[in-house]
Amino acid sequence: MAITMSLEGKTAIITGSNSGIGFGLAQELARGGANVVLNSFTDTEEDHALAAGIAKEYGVDAQYIQADMSKGDQCRMLIEKAPACDILVNNAGIQHVSPIDKFPVDKWDAIIAINMNSTFHTMAAALPRMREAGWGRVINIASAHGLRASPYKAAYIAAKHGVVGMTKSVALETAEEPITVNAICPGYVLTPIIEKQIPDTMKEYGMDRDTVLREVILVKHPSKQFATIEELGGIVMMLCSDHSKQITGTTISADGGWTAA
Ligand code: NAD
Repeated sequence: MAITMSLEGKTAIITGSNSGIGFGLAQELARGGANVVLNSFTDTEEDHALAAGIAKEYGVDAQYIQADMSKGDQCRMLIEKAPACDILVNNAGIQHVSPIDKFPVDKWDAIIAINMNSTFHTMAAALPRMREAGWGRVINIASAHGLRASPYKAAYIAAKHGVVGMTKSVALETAEEPITVNAICPGYVLTPIIEKQIPDTMKEYGMDRDTVLREVILVKHPSKQFATIEELGGIVMMLCSDHSKQITGTTISADGGWTAA
């Protein structure tokens, strides 16, 4: 049976959504009828134009709210400032690739704050609003690296494992309510976050770009293919549908079989 459900009248907040997966998920949610709140730490004309473009294309309300997900008070402000909060997609994330003994402390702190702590702050602020509305969906964009490790990514892997654990814990807290809390664990998706780590990975492994793509990145995917933003959008829509009421506290992998091994 096809899953059909309009998100008309619902509002989705997507953190870190002025590029890559976050922007794609915002488009998909708007295509499904949801009003959307885009976010990042910048406040440019282009950021606001992205929201205006979504509003025009899909006929929904869309706005951009600047908030730095490395700062707890701004995470909470984003949720409070949004017109409503029915769907929360915790997507903001950064990466840094380095051996642990050379890992810059400021990069460690930023990755833990943006990739993990922001999820704590936004969920803490969102749940009371979802309870008031009598419905809610929290979707945390974790990673295959929330389930498996790779070298030189200690901060990212610690943060994403933390997100997976937090997802399970909060799902138990909300289990008797019409609110679900899940994590999506993508393998590799060719977005700016991956493009940015290719030069460091080339350096760490002493490889050229094509070899890094083939032998370090896609070697993890038994399918030998990247996951796509559109595919992740489909999973988000499925989790928002009423067919998924009993799906809570779990991880959904989109990694071409990586974590099956
Ligand atoms: P991306 O670099 O295109 O997107 C990251 C987003 O986070 C951007 O919109 C950026 O503006 C935002 N951001 C960064 N710092 C922020 C801050 N301080 N406050 C608010 N927003 C901030 O990369 P992406 O691939 O689209 O990544 C999105 C999410 O998906 C991340 O959490 C990432 O870890 C996760 N993920 C990506 C992949 C992949 O292969 N691309 C795989 C698994 C998980």
